[in-house]
Amino acid sequence: MSWSITVGRVAGTDVRIHLTFLLLLLWIGVAHYVDGGAAAAVEGVAFISAVFLCVVLHEFGHAMAARHYGIGTRDITLLPIGGLARLERFPDKPGQEIVVALAGPAVNVVIALILILIFGMPVDVTALSEVESPQIGFFERLAAVNIFLVVFNMIPAFPMDGGRVLRAALSYRMDRFRATEVAASIGQALAFLFGFLGLMSGNAILVFIAIFVYLAATAEAASEGLMALGRRIRVDDAMIRAFETLRPDQSVDDAADALIRTTQSEFPIVDGDGRLRAFLLRSEMIHALKASGPRTPVLQAATGKTLTIRAGTRLDRALNQMQQSGATVFGVTDQQDKLIGYISQENIGELMMLGEANWHKRDSVGSGENRTVPRVPPA
Ligand SMILES: [Zn+2]
Repeated sequence: MSWSITVGRVAGTDVRIHLTFLLLLLWIGVAHYVDGGAAAAVEGVAFISAVFLCVVLHEFGHAMAARHYGIGTRDITLLPIGGLARLERFPDKPGQEIVVALAGPAVNVVIALILILIFGMPVDVTALSEVESPQIGFFERLAAVNIFLVVFNMIPAFPMDGGRVLRAALSYRMDRFRATEVAASIGQALAFLFGFLGLMSGNAILVFIAIFVYLAATAEAASEGLMALGRRIRVDDAMIRAFETLRPDQSVDDAADALIRTTQSEFPIVDGDGRLRAFLLRSEMIHALKASGPRTPVLQAATGKTLTIRAGTRLDRALNQMQQSGATVFGVTDQQDKLIGYISQENIGELMMLGEANWHKRDSVGSGENRTVPRVPPA
């Protein structure tokens, strides 16, 4: 997300604007200027800014509801297609997920009601298709946009809020993984419908939305599949056990040798007591080689967060911690805090493929707390 700039911090959440959003403002400004001069340009940019303020408030609706359940929001990013609130995690309980999902559209309902009450304006659907028309008042159009935001977000497809409500409602009747699959299938079917309607009517935006919804539904199903697998196994079942480590006194040059010699793309830096000091990633290695040369100590080059998780922890809990901390790799430690393995993104990708092939059907987590013999996956 290096294409985003942070514009402020509200209640512990960074508000960021993606640079493409600023391009959108510029484009709107220029288009209105060509049409109707400076006054039209100011009016156009002001209207789009007001729309996106409503979108940010919508995202804060989600963030505030999540906070009520003890879940933080790392940041809210403004994109040309809308807002994106990055919650640390989604609540597991269906009732809580429904509240968090509905809190966003509820904000737009309130904004629309306030605008209609204050300005006493009848909102009819024709205003929706004419949001660009200067004949209709600024606030009437803004009220119409808020109603559109409610309707659009309640479409029962991921990543819209309606998709989450649907999944949560389904998970009262079936397990969460199955509920996600069903909700994702409905989302994909709707995406096909939007795509078809978009192509038939020559509406490019509808086609764009269809592709967006299709990809999001697929991604959501995949990520929930991983979490379902994660609920059945422990970190020690999934971790990399055979790997090379670096000593804290080694240099980036030594690390580069290890990078060539092995297939690893991240190296645990482990001290004399077997404790993990940091992970040196391939990208950090390359960066250090360019910025400060091959003599750079590995500990100085390793700038990422160092996360360790105790062996025996359920994998889904570990993945949640990984997501919350923003780490891309984490170490697995034994009772004496010694590093015995680690889990990387690539490793997780392999797990997902194995999960799809129905690896690990046995219920590892339910099979006893004191299991010490590592399980070997079938060849
Ligand atoms: Zn929302």
